[in-house]
Amino acid sequence: MLPEREIYDEEHAHLRQTVRRFIETEVAPNFARWEEAGIVDRAFWQKAGEAGLLCPTVPEDYDGVGGDFRMNTIICEEMAYSGFAGPAADISVHSDVCLGYILQHATPEQKERWLPGMVAGKTVCAIAMTEPGTGSDLQGVRTSAVRDGDDFIINGSKTFISNGQHADLVITVTRTGEGRGSGNMSLIVVETDRPGFRRGRNLDKLGQLSADTSELFFDNVRVPAANLLGAEGRAMNMLMSELPQERLIIGLTAIAAAQKAFDLTLDYVRERKAFGQAIADFQVTRHKLADLKTELSVGWAFIDQCIRKHLQHQLSTSEASMAKLWCAELQGRVVDACVQLHGGYGFMRDYDICRMYADARIHRIYGGTSEIMKELISRSL
Ligand SMILES: Cc1cc2nc3c(=O)[nH]c(=O)nc-3n(C[C@H](O)[C@H](O)[C@H](O)COP(=O)(O)OP(=O)(O)OC[C@H]3O[C@@H](n4cnc5c(N)ncnc54)[C@H](O)[C@@H]3O)c2cc1C
Repeated sequence: MLPEREIYDEEHAHLRQTVRRFIETEVAPNFARWEEAGIVDRAFWQKAGEAGLLCPTVPEDYDGVGGDFRMNTIICEEMAYSGFAGPAADISVHSDVCLGYILQHATPEQKERWLPGMVAGKTVCAIAMTEPGTGSDLQGVRTSAVRDGDDFIINGSKTFISNGQHADLVITVTRTGEGRGSGNMSLIVVETDRPGFRRGRNLDKLGQLSADTSELFFDNVRVPAANLLGAEGRAMNMLMSELPQERLIIGLTAIAAAQKAFDLTLDYVRERKAFGQAIADFQVTRHKLADLKTELSVGWAFIDQCIRKHLQHQLSTSEASMAKLWCAELQGRVVDACVQLHGGYGFMRDYDICRMYADARIHRIYGGTSEIMKELISRSL
């Protein structure tokens, strides 16, 4: 079970029930089919919107419910704990990552245009930073946006973009000036029905199979300057202000999924017998589980501390990086030990732990790799 937490109150308990119901009725019955297809149905988005599970922090003026960030964290941790990692990632990119840029940096006119659709699930959002030639090194972005009267003309390509197949809006990191400097980078929101925009194939991944991930191509895509997010040349500042939330959320997703792996393994080793006793009764098993439970408990305490700080707008880049680093690495240790405790069954796709092992691997890579997290933390020393 997810641990009891002091950061939540009764209103949050109600939302938790709604998320669980949604998982039971809309996700579980379709999940195997989505994994097979490599993508969720489009109806998933509308149903999530109808259930109130998208963008809960959007103010009422834009058709939202104006909740605080703990509504995002509840949806995130329940989805992650369900073990349905693909749909969990889809919603998280939309509500926890993309929305932040629009809420914090869009004009009222842009919010009016984009937010109601995002809340309703009619407009799916993606963020495109990574390119074939650059991922960790964001200053290496080459996709260009050249001013032409009241428009920008965008050329370039992006890869590994979550929600790329379903996306209606892509927050695109572009280069709006000459040279590598961070002052030449801007965020432009591109509607995917513009001429010259093309989606590549849905990429074939190790895990999170139902989360669509795509290459995107921009061939002379004309976008009005009214789609510029924040000021021209300020992309790096906006990324620096929003990436901590993305990293905190990945940390939370990782620890919630790790908790699920731990819980289902505990059940398994209590049932499974060898040499006349339950696997759980071997001292080596009990000590391994005691180690993992301790690490999980420490992780939850730190994650909650970070959520609290984020609610007060005091979460630092290095703290968010520590949350992601610790929880993603911990999840790796947990799922590895859990597969081992399942023996050969842990390697079988019929067993949830097998899928959870594959799904976990990406948390040490996207949103900034563990190595990049250590770079960011070390800068604060
Ligand atoms: C499933 C999936 C979904 C994704 N979703 C999105 C998305 O929605 N939007 C988006 O923009 N991107 C997305 N990404 C991209 C992801 O964020 C990048 O893959 C990640 O940041 C790493 O970049 P890279 O793949 O170019 O690796 P590289 O930057 O080439 O890194 C390769 C290796 O070198 C190491 N390395 C690089 N620089 C340093 C350094 N300074 N010091 C030490 N080691 C270093 C890295 O840690 C890594 O181990 C996604 C990726 C995947 C796989």
